[in-house]
Order: sequence, then C-alpha cells, then structure tokens
Amino acid sequence: MQILTTAAGLHAYTEQARQAGHRVGLVPTMGALHAGHLQLVQAARAECNEVIASIFVNPTQFNNAEDFRLYPRVPEADAALLAPAGCTALFVPSVAEMYSQTTVLRFDFGALERVMEGAHRPGHFSGVATVVSKLFHLACPHRAYFGQKDWQQVAIVKQLVADLSFDLEIVACPTIREADGLAMSSRNRRLDAPARAAAPLLYQVLQTAAAQVRRGVPPAQVQAIAEASIAQEPLFTVEYMAVADAQTLQPLTDYGAGRAVVLCLAAHLGGVRLIDNVVVEA
Ligand code: AMP
Repeated sequence: MQILTTAAGLHAYTEQARQAGHRVGLVPTMGALHAGHLQLVQAARAECNEVIASIFVNPTQFNNAEDFRLYPRVPEADAALLAPAGCTALFVPSVAEMYSQTTVLRFDFGALERVMEGAHRPGHFSGVATVVSKLFHLACPHRAYFGQKDWQQVAIVKQLVADLSFDLEIVACPTIREADGLAMSSRNRRLDAPARAAAPLLYQVLQTAAAQVRRGVPPAQVQAIAEASIAQEPLFTVEYMAVADAQTLQPLTDYGAGRAVVLCLAAHLGGVRLIDNVVVEA
C-alpha cells in the first residue's frame, strides 16, 4: 500500500492508474477506522483494481471546535488495517495540504440540508462538499464509497455529483453494527463504560419506531414515542428524531404509498454525539 501525503502525489498516482486502464475506487474517511470503514474498502476492492482510502479529519465540516479537537486520530493503527483489507493507496494529507488557502466557496443544498444534520450542524455539509469535491478532483475515481450510516450525507454527495457533473458513481453501503446493535462509529471510542452500556438504546428505539411505521402509526406519534423512550435513559439527550421521506429527507405528516421512510436519530451520550438511522422500505 502506497502512502500519499500530497495532492500532487495523489493526482499523479491516479492519473497513472487510469492510464493503465485500472478502475479507481475512493473511500473517503476521517480515520479511527472500524469494520464499517473496512466494509467500504472491501466493496471497493470487489469492483475496482485501485482502491484509494483517504484519512483526513476535515476542519471545515466541524461546527464544534471541541469535537474537532477530541476526534480520535490513530494513523498508524489505521494504516495497519487498510493494507490487509485490500487498499492499494492511502492518502493522508495535512490540513495545510488540503487547505493551502482559506476557502471562500460555500455550498447550499437547499431543502436537503435544512433538516437533520444540516439543520443542527450549520455549515457541516458545506465543509463535507468542499472536501469531497477536492478529493474527487484529486483522485478522479470511477466510484466513491460511502456509508448509509450517514444517510443525509449520501443524499448530499449524490446531489453534489449530479449538480457539478462529476463523472463518477456513488456507491452506498449498509450500516455495520456492533453485536448489541450500536452502529459502529469512530466516536464510540470516546464513550465511557456507563455510556457504552446505554448506547444500544439508540438502535432499539429506531427498531421500535420502524415497527410502528410499518403498522401505520402516524409520524408525529412515532417521533414523540422515540424521543420519550430515549429521555428515559438519563445519560442521553435527544437532539432530533426525524420521520422523513427517504429520498427527499423532508419530514412526513403521513405515509404515501410507494414511499420509503427513513428514521434518523441524533443524541448526546456522555458528551459524545451519536447518530443512527433505519430505513423502512415502502
Ligand atoms: P467517517 O470516518 O466517520 O467520516 O466515515 C467515513 C465513511 O464511512 C462514511 O461514508 C461513513 O458513512 C462510513 N461509515 C462510518 N461508520 C459506518 C458504519 N458503521 N457502517 C457503514 N459505514 C460507515
């Protein structure tokens, strides 16, 4: 596995791979890797002969300086996981390399980002779109792999690709969970023992809510029950619970025929912000 630290190095690497007729897959991450990330690498490996993972804790997508400071960074351990997973190159740029000048461009994804993560983390998706655009330009992948754990992020990135005519395909991979249901996340490392013990409640509440959606319980009621269930665990504070159209992400007041529903939950647990979602197919 080749380690690349400069934008020019990444560009040259993929240019050569493309000229050799290779299919290039890109897996953008912020590191502190777990099985959820490695699944993206494996999916890329199955479809591409060049698999480039990037590790970059992107400052412009953090609206909370403390969250950025405390974000886990374990580059050596990450590299040791990526090589055996089939990654052919790892891009680990510095902040100065990615942002050699202050970025003034801001993205606005309209209704897609007025809800959920976009509404609660102002500027987050503009930062995501900035860094993802840079990575797409530098790595010129045929395919880029993202996790459905960040459901809204996938929708935003697909919109970005469509609006800016990036010549690549976005592949969305399912959420990988711990045995007790907790969605894997780099931030889980920051949970202390009591918080970790309480954490599976998030997915349990989502599963209960999904069953209610299937039974036709109205969205407002599903939302209220979920919020009340989380509130029963004193370590948790709910940030939002959304019952939304899985494509448009807009909140639902009722269920239309043929419309998939996404249930998205964000909560704080012992100083750590966790998100999760479940999709109920129509
Ligand atoms: P992150 O390092 O958290 O920015 O995540 C990098 C990529 O991995 C994103 O596309 C995430 O959606 C994806 N990802 C993170 N956690 C999981 C998970 N538990 N299952 C599947 N994909 C994940």
